[in-house]
Amino acid sequence: MENLIKILQSKNIQPSHQRIKILEILVKNKDHMNVNMIYDELSKEIPTISKTTVYNALNTFAEKGLVHCLTITPEEMRYDYETKPHHHLLCKQCGRIIDVNVRCTYAEAMEIEGHSIEEIQGYFKGTCKDCLSRENHKTKN
Ligand SMILES: [Zn+2]
Ligand SMILES: [Zn+2]
Repeated sequence: MENLIKILQSKNIQPSHQRIKILEILVKNKDHMNVNMIYDELSKEIPTISKTTVYNALNTFAEKGLVHCLTITPEEMRYDYETKPHHHLLCKQCGRIIDVNVRCTYAEAMEIEGHSIEEIQGYFKGTCKDCLSRENHKTKN
């Protein structure tokens, strides 16, 4: 909890109770949640919270560079707390967005042909290993 407050303060974000809770969810879940998922999770603890509050908090987090917005899925925004540049795999079967550890020299240098890079969103689409193993089981039977 104290850590979360420090993280928020380090980005000049007023650490309100709701913001702390939202950050906690983002830190705990590596699933790149969207607003609805975060709202559902949060309303278990704070039944009075509104989706607008969640949305506004996420906007502030993104503006201050605390989270990255992923636009892999065109119909929704997903939020990523891990702001170190990394690439993603979107599984076409289960819809999960998974961090993949691909070595990217551009990400390491944060520079391409003299242009300075602040954010990198590389992504792959395919089938995740969990779905693959499920499929393999199916074909064996
Ligand atoms: Zn999958
Ligand atoms: Zn990620």
